Amino acid sequence: MKKILLADDDPLLIQVYSNKLKSAGYEVEAAQSGEEILRRLLERKFDLVLLDIVLPEISGWEVLEKIKERRVGSKNLEDLKIVIISNLGQRSEVEKGLKLGAVKYLVKSHYTPSQIVEEVKQILGV
Ligand SMILES: [Mg+2]
Repeated sequence: MKKILLADDDPLLIQVYSNKLKSAGYEVEAAQSGEEILRRLLERKFDLVLLDIVLPEISGWEVLEKIKERRVGSKNLEDLKIVIISNLGQRSEVEKGLKLGAVKYLVKSHYTPSQIVEEVKQILGV
């Protein structure tokens, strides 16, 4: 079963996306702050992270940078797929996200939860 880390500070969004992803057969854990995301990435191996950008304490940008430089402990994060889900939709932000290693940048308002799950399926191949 593929494991997804759902990283967003909006509890309602976590609930909705989490239910959808679980129904689609994924194992889902949630993290609500940048710090928690980094801690969970250390604890276990995930196949994919759905990463929000505007987060308390440590922003999604910083999380991305740390993953890219593999400065999250000594974990090998090479296989980890990062998908940004954000309300920030400026072209410069999308480009920044992709440059920092995200495989996809999804602007929240453009996707229904079901469409997000479809994107995840395509990326993970299951
Ligand atoms: Mg947020």
